Amino acid sequence: MRVSPLTPETFADNARAALADATLTGALRRATDTFAERRAAAIGAVPDWQELRTRAAAIKAHTLARLDAYLEEFTANATKAGATVHWARDAAEACAIVRDLAQARGSKRLVKSKSMATEEIHLNAALAQDGREPVETDLGEWIIQLAGETPSHIIVPAIHKTKEQIGALFVDKLGIPPSSDPQLLAAEARTRLRAHFAAADLGISGVNFGVAETGTILVLENEGNARMTTTLPAVHVAVMGIEKVIPRFGDLETFLRLLPRSGTGQHLTTYQSMLTGPDPMGQGPRELHIVLLDNGRSRIVADELMRQTLACIRCGACLNACPVYQSIGGHAYGSVYPGPIGAILTPQLQGLHSAGTLPFASSLCGACKDVCPVKIDIPSLLLELRRRAVAGEQVPAAPSRGAAPTTSKPARRKPLEALGWRVWSWVTRSPARFRLATAFARLGQKLPFAMRLFGPMRAWQSSREAPKLAARPFRDRWRGDAR
Ligand code: SF4
Repeated sequence: MRVSPLTPETFADNARAALADATLTGALRRATDTFAERRAAAIGAVPDWQELRTRAAAIKAHTLARLDAYLEEFTANATKAGATVHWARDAAEACAIVRDLAQARGSKRLVKSKSMATEEIHLNAALAQDGREPVETDLGEWIIQLAGETPSHIIVPAIHKTKEQIGALFVDKLGIPPSSDPQLLAAEARTRLRAHFAAADLGISGVNFGVAETGTILVLENEGNARMTTTLPAVHVAVMGIEKVIPRFGDLETFLRLLPRSGTGQHLTTYQSMLTGPDPMGQGPRELHIVLLDNGRSRIVADELMRQTLACIRCGACLNACPVYQSIGGHAYGSVYPGPIGAILTPQLQGLHSAGTLPFASSLCGACKDVCPVKIDIPSLLLELRRRAVAGEQVPAAPSRGAAPTTSKPARRKPLEALGWRVWSWVTRSPARFRLATAFARLGQKLPFAMRLFGPMRAWQSSREAPKLAARPFRDRWRGDAR
């Protein structure tokens, strides 16, 4: 069972613990630096990169504004092709659909390829209740399943682990001789996973894109495990967030040029599996079931400002670029979706009452916005969620089946912080008070040790330098020039 013990409520403590873990921070720095370098090289070779981003953002905005119509078109065409489409309002409903499908067919050996939607609904834990926990077949996912952990990155689930830690895990769980040779460890995983593929009777996957025009689903990956998960077992169940639909087959050209380059710095992922209904030749799955997952998304779509959150194509670039993620990794967020995208998505899925800390876990440097292939304005959305949290506005959690709609408690500011903002507001509303305050600040800058006496200032200054105030204020100079 892989449900993280950490939560967004304890973000500050989680982050402190992560920062103290030198092995973790070293692994994160190496991995995120490598991805950033590969991404820069890959997009440098695409002269129309910015046009592609603009086109992708426009396609997503257009689709999200007419999501109901495109979902109906997708459902009609997927059904025409022989797939069965199921609609799930929430996590419980989605898990129940998959459990019922497995139970009705007597499926006992389940395999699963990497899918954030199934992590979001905790599908493995739900299936484990019936003794049907699927075997993860993505190498990173399999490693963390062995370790009993949760993914810490959208596309690199085991980014937080070093090869030495993985070697030790294999010794412990698989009983192999000690080794930290990546090739040897991968070969061991391949051998073990192939046996699971050969025996599997039901395969579960996510979906990268669902094409309304044809009812096709597309699954991207690099290891071939998703190809085997979606073709070898007799039944394939694909769990697809409703925001994954795109209008036309031709739109894939735009997204396929953006996603792999942004995520892993590849020109194209090694495998692109396009599935339109079950295999008509009878050599692949006899049944294809597509579970359309809402779980709070239709509520996000209804909010015109926050809607762009759902344009995300889960490339992971904003995680790799974020100085906060680079320092603490994914587990500290206590959420399935970490990093900048998690900081805006999780509070909207779980409610501000439980994830209201996450929008504040950002320096607002804007690196996430710069790298996002679909131009999501993450810093503005972070600020809007902060505003709503402070104002006590309601961002309810996704409704659960059978439960009354959840409402959020207003997020509260820390008393000292609230007092600080009240004082700041009082000072800046009077020119005389503002002048007096800046005179004190100028004096304080001459005595830096005095600033360090205050706890918050000490923490702030431990890794930053405050900008110097001008010796002569602008207003004085302006008056001098005007005279
Ligand atoms: S928000 Fe943008 S950069 Fe971040 S994962 Fe989504 S698409 Fe990629």
